[in-house]
Amino acid sequence: MNIYKPLNSIFKPSVSYFSGYSIMHYDKEFPLLNVSPGPASISENIFKKLYDDIYSKNKYSYGNTPLEMSHRSPEYLEILNNVNLKIKNFMEIPNQFKILWTQGGGHGQFSAIPLNMKRINKNIKGGYLVSGTWSSRAFIESKKFINSENLLQNFYKNLTSIEYDRLPAQISIPSDIDYLYLCSNETVNGIEFKKNGIEYPGRNVLGKTKLIVDMSSDFLMKKVDWSNIDVAFACTSKNMGVAGANIVIIREDLIDSLSDNHSTPCTLDWKLYAETNSLYNTPAVFNIYLLNHIMDDYINTMKTIENVNDISKEKANILYEFLDNNQIFKPVVKDKECRSNINIPFIVGDGNEKMMEDFLEYCSKENLVGLRTQTPFSYKKLNLKEPLRISLYNGISVADVKHIVAIMKNFTLIYFK
Ligand code: PMP
Repeated sequence: MNIYKPLNSIFKPSVSYFSGYSIMHYDKEFPLLNVSPGPASISENIFKKLYDDIYSKNKYSYGNTPLEMSHRSPEYLEILNNVNLKIKNFMEIPNQFKILWTQGGGHGQFSAIPLNMKRINKNIKGGYLVSGTWSSRAFIESKKFINSENLLQNFYKNLTSIEYDRLPAQISIPSDIDYLYLCSNETVNGIEFKKNGIEYPGRNVLGKTKLIVDMSSDFLMKKVDWSNIDVAFACTSKNMGVAGANIVIIREDLIDSLSDNHSTPCTLDWKLYAETNSLYNTPAVFNIYLLNHIMDDYINTMKTIENVNDISKEKANILYEFLDNNQIFKPVVKDKECRSNINIPFIVGDGNEKMMEDFLEYCSKENLVGLRTQTPFSYKKLNLKEPLRISLYNGISVADVKHIVAIMKNFTLIYFK
């Protein structure tokens, strides 16, 4: 149970510019609430285990500390097998899928997808549902290697990928598309393919078209209907610990269908990862070790993926309830069917920059950080109002969200007194 910093009842904004990019603790007496979009918060329980493994009682349980562990040791192999098993059970992944651990993060897979898929058919065509910044990057990357098409080009006519704030009610797939690509939660835009909202296109719609999904920011937060999926991937820096590794969950028969084409760079070659148990090169040992503890924590505290989803909805509802009924903070995505439960962008004071910076300064003084990120997607250049964003990954609790809302309410009270 967190003991939060008592809220300040007076706030005097500084006259100088306050950017709000820093993620520093303001008052070290109290916990820091970090709502960054990733790398993100990791629960205190995990740090206790990490501390034990490095400094105290478990120090030698792996032969060495986890920072020094050989990836060829039986101890690491046991951890890797455990992680795979825990993820398979928790996410109810059927046996016909294989788990790979790649490097190069999500971007590595943006390139790996076209490069591997063209080993099924050298004229392969990818259909990309570009619904935000990350699917846009994946689409741009695919065009370096294959013929691909943005299927939502007309839907978002004249908008740039940072302005997208809705999803089409129905998705139709042209008959010449071999694989469909989508990002189930656009981390920057705050648009989500939700189970109860717009579902993934099902097998009845997909037919023989393969479905590839970027689950980087919603993996381990909601149930997945694996019967629709052919390949899913997620970088580790949101719900799976620290940046560096990336999970790829892939149908075994898809791996079998890849030709032995040795022109795929080894670090992107799905077949090579599968044949070597993701040990062709030195894997991100520490990530996998940390994830073993994180999975234990999820399993012990949240029990099931349905439960995580319920908690996630509860957190989002608390925040949206406040944002929807307030004069200063407005959510960017209005459509309830597709607005994300995980990454919630909002505008302060209808784009008033000074008010936004004052708010960030107030948050910083309350130990709340990570609302503003220096993204490569420039709002200023496009003359757009810059949103702030709160990310509610599994490391953020319901109590944390209530405290965040209390901070926002208090800001409005004392700022306009
Ligand atoms: N996809 C999504 C949905 C993301 O949020 C991100 C990173 N924030 C990426 C892909 C890119 O991942 P990486 O930075 O690990 O390459």
